[in-house]
Amino acid sequence: MSGKLSIVGLGPGDDRYLTREALDALAEAEALYGYGPYLDRIPPRAGQSRHASDNREEAERARAALGHAASGANVAIASGGDPGVFAMAASVCEEIASGPDSWRVLDVAIVPGITAMLAVAARAGAPLGHDFCALSLSDNLKPWELIERRLDAVAGAGFVIALYNPISRARPWQLGKAFARLARHLPGTTPVIFGRAVGRSDESLRVTTLSDAGETAADMATLIIVGSRETRIIAREGRAPLVYTPRIVEEVIA
Ligand code: SAH
Repeated sequence: MSGKLSIVGLGPGDDRYLTREALDALAEAEALYGYGPYLDRIPPRAGQSRHASDNREEAERARAALGHAASGANVAIASGGDPGVFAMAASVCEEIASGPDSWRVLDVAIVPGITAMLAVAARAGAPLGHDFCALSLSDNLKPWELIERRLDAVAGAGFVIALYNPISRARPWQLGKAFARLARHLPGTTPVIFGRAVGRSDESLRVTTLSDAGETAADMATLIIVGSRETRIIAREGRAPLVYTPRIVEEVIA
């Protein structure tokens, strides 16, 4: 008996961000796994079991869902944003790589969702209009020295940088250090965008500069986009500014 495991991206916010493919995958599943608040966003369906777990228990959740699917069930894991971006899809692959053979023969489907970086960028204008990269600032799964080396490399090379997992109670100082590191490569006037809970009712957006970024509040629900030397702000009377990175780079200034 071979089961199915879908890893489904819910997008960054409410159900307006759910794709039809994601809705179908969630509706056809017999069992749903995921972080409790994510499961709460999915309309209940009779006969479907729900297995909520803590946000930090990703490996355990992946193993439980794989085991359940290997028993022949159609199982879905709900993941915020896109499941392939700092999230459950990689966790499931890690467990399949080291797990029993019965997990390798499963039908595995990864259903994409809108990742936080794209949702925040859309609110601010077009900051990702030219070359960009994404980094997680969490040093839970990699050493801090490596994060600093990557910040140096990408800021020095002129990428716009999306910062996921900027800060948490257990990681209070990393964000300030990251801004200081970026300031070695970028002028203090570089635009910085803070997008919080984008797509939800309590969403907020702040546009500031690298020299003031350290004073701007951020939490686990915030995604930060640090511009490049080309990124600009269009001030507008009575409207929020538009932040954009032009598609044409005429000279090497990074
Ligand atoms: N898979 C998710 C990212 C998981 S990492 C995705 O594709 O979006 C968790 C980090 O994502 C958070 O610390 C925050 O930086 C960012 N994030 C997730 N949802 C967000 C939202 N609605 N608004 C702003 N940032 C968000």
